[in-house]
Amino acid sequence: MNKLGPRPIGRAAAAGFPPTPEQAFAELLAGNRRFVAGTPHHPNQDADHRAAVAEGQHPFAVIVGCSDSRLAAEIIFDRGLGDLFVVRTAGHTVGPEVLGSVEYAVTVLGTPLVVVLGHDSCGAVQAARAAASTGVAPAGHLRAVVDAVLPSLGLAAERGVEDPDEIVDIHIAHTVEAILANSSVLAAEVADGRCAVVGLSYRLSAGETRAVAAVPVGLTEPPAAA
Ligand SMILES: [Zn+2]
Repeated sequence: MNKLGPRPIGRAAAAGFPPTPEQAFAELLAGNRRFVAGTPHHPNQDADHRAAVAEGQHPFAVIVGCSDSRLAAEIIFDRGLGDLFVVRTAGHTVGPEVLGSVEYAVTVLGTPLVVVLGHDSCGAVQAARAAASTGVAPAGHLRAVVDAVLPSLGLAAERGVEDPDEIVDIHIAHTVEAILANSSVLAAEVADGRCAVVGLSYRLSAGETRAVAAVPVGLTEPPAAA
């Protein structure tokens, strides 16, 4: 779908949609704060809302997250049906189908924010580190996951980074870069100000997220690692 093509049916019916990337990001972080505090609202999970969104979806954020079972997007961001367009792979690796899914959300559904969601103790990153250190590639299609993580490990090695959490942050930031480098469609949406791409690092025990990358950079307060 060309970004200059006709607006999707039903989009105009959603009042205030699309929000700006900044508004979408603030909404997402607000939900995560509720989750961390143990005071979730569980919004948009009732039967009336279920019926309403059956007529059309207007998700305000795309989550490109790791498949880890502890990283359930609607739970950790305290959202409900129709709020988040979620694509998950082990290690949030981004092949053609993932990029196509993100492009669909951004260009067809008008979603203004893409979030790469990684986390500490990521098994995909650990598997890639094991493969790199032993020189033994995993069997089957797991190799594709490992191969997709290895460039991030190369970046970490170039920078002399050995801390596992810092390596995860580098992998998240590299995934943000990979999305924009491999999707001219998404890069154009970002360049035109309709969309932003943010990398968030999630801590399994605390439930908190921390921004480690953002394009455009001014979207958030990048920490030192960005
Ligand atoms: Zn993971």
